[in-house]
Amino acid sequence: MRIDVVSIFPEYLAPLELSLIGKARQDGLLQLNVHDLRSFTTDRHRTVDDTPYGGGAGMVMKPEPWAKALEEIVGARAGEGGAAKPILIVPSPAGERFTQSIAHELAEEEQLVFACGRYEGIDERVIEWASEHFTVRPMSLGDYVLNGGEVAVLAMVEAIGRLLPGVVGNPESLVEESHSDGLLEYPVYTKPSSWREREVPAVLLSGNHGKIAQWRRHEQFRRTAERRPDLLADFDASTLTRADREVFAELGYDVVDGRLERRVLDGDA
Ligand code: SAM
Repeated sequence: MRIDVVSIFPEYLAPLELSLIGKARQDGLLQLNVHDLRSFTTDRHRTVDDTPYGGGAGMVMKPEPWAKALEEIVGARAGEGGAAKPILIVPSPAGERFTQSIAHELAEEEQLVFACGRYEGIDERVIEWASEHFTVRPMSLGDYVLNGGEVAVLAMVEAIGRLLPGVVGNPESLVEESHSDGLLEYPVYTKPSSWREREVPAVLLSGNHGKIAQWRRHEQFRRTAERRPDLLADFDASTLTRADREVFAELGYDVVDGRLERRVLDGDA
């Protein structure tokens, strides 16, 4: 996969030289290029922002340096004989929520381009113009506001990059993770089995793989119901076993037409 990131703070992306993503780059599994937006300016001060039309606080990123940077990236790719439009991800708190399933979808792409906004964001005409050359996807990390797109890009590139074949040593470890099956992951433990008077759950020491798998699955149900009950609304409950249904019943959920339905409990009103 090839990833291009455009930012006024290219050094902000330095952590992508470390750990598994850094190794993936060294091994040639991921080609990552960081471009300085200011090198696409033409004035002495290398200006990338200006005051907003209509007034108001803050500055807005000027369109021309963005167009030049993105044209260069698309041009470089055209020279490689690419066919489909590359995806342009524009980090924005006003974008679609970035999720694990979007990370999987994007990990299938040949090229991703990230445009890191700063200040009040990028002149909207850049987004309109860019859709002629890219499939544009404004993408939010979550419902909060960061100072710039770089932190969001670090998170998205790591989430996508670790799904590329060969990046994570044991691909099995990607299977039972939070959000891989619509649930949160079960709690995990390591040695020693007794630590500060706290014991590892006995079932994990039993050697009974069937029981361990069932315990883990039921812990997923409990943890998801407690921390992220919103995820259960989309959970496919049609294949739950009787034991699974009993756990959900304890947690206050019934299975109705293959979906989980929260029972109204005393005190809910
Ligand atoms: N005025 C913008 C708004 O209210 O939607 C926020 C601009 S923010 C201060 C500057 C930049 O940070 C944005 O252009 C975007 O690149 C990035 N950013 C901020 N919050 C983000 C989030 N939750 N997800 C992704 N990017 C974000």
